[in-house]
Amino acid sequence: MSSRLRRTLLAATLGALACLALPLPGAAAAGPPGPTRLVSTPGKIVSIPASVPHELGDMVDRRIVPDLIWIARRYPIYVTDGYSGPLPNGQHVGCDECHARNSDHYNGLAVDLVPLGGGTKCDASWEPITALAEWAEPVQGEPVLPFRWVGYDGDAGHGCGNHLHLSWNHTPAPMFTLAESVEVFPVTPGEATETTPTAPRSPRAPAIPAPPSGPSGGISRAQTGGIGAHGASGPPPGFGD
Ligand SMILES: [Zn+2]
Repeated sequence: MSSRLRRTLLAATLGALACLALPLPGAAAAGPPGPTRLVSTPGKIVSIPASVPHELGDMVDRRIVPDLIWIARRYPIYVTDGYSGPLPNGQHVGCDECHARNSDHYNGLAVDLVPLGGGTKCDASWEPITALAEWAEPVQGEPVLPFRWVGYDGDAGHGCGNHLHLSWNHTPAPMFTLAESVEVFPVTPGEATETTPTAPRSPRAPAIPAPPSGPSGGISRAQTGGIGAHGASGPPPGFGD
């Protein structure tokens, strides 16, 4: 190998390493979430891992857990609600009748966030949450993919001192069903080790069986078509809570 080639390779390696450099916790300069990818491995409602501070019992679709872990490592978040609805065993999780109709909470693809250790006053403890909201939605009403709806300042019932709502984009799914596909931002391998690795591309392969539907009508998988156009199918302000 020529020394010139070696220098080129070294420069490329250093450049790649620089790209992997992590922003400081709470830093607004986290960069945009993209590029995103569509996850079509079967979803499942799972407990939120301990590395993401949350209210006892909160659950989400496992396909957004790596993104949640990624966010929790950068922003001091505390999840106050995730999936809201019945489980296959008949139990109900999440805040009942808290969310608007067709809320992504009913699909396990939304979370409500407040600052860890913060209060209900819009004070300095909310600054990282505001930074997170601006990262996910730099312009009001225009969430950055993979987010489908972001509820914060400017949205009734949301905002600094109240809560931040984040929804992930997904194929249309009725209430209490799992979406066929979910859009996520990929995280660096090793950053989300607490989740089951996603299976290689075989969306129909029953590698991870979906939970059986209980007689009480627990959450099931929606068999729906392609992902809706971003924004077009999103709930209007106030309806994505
Ligand atoms: Zn919400």
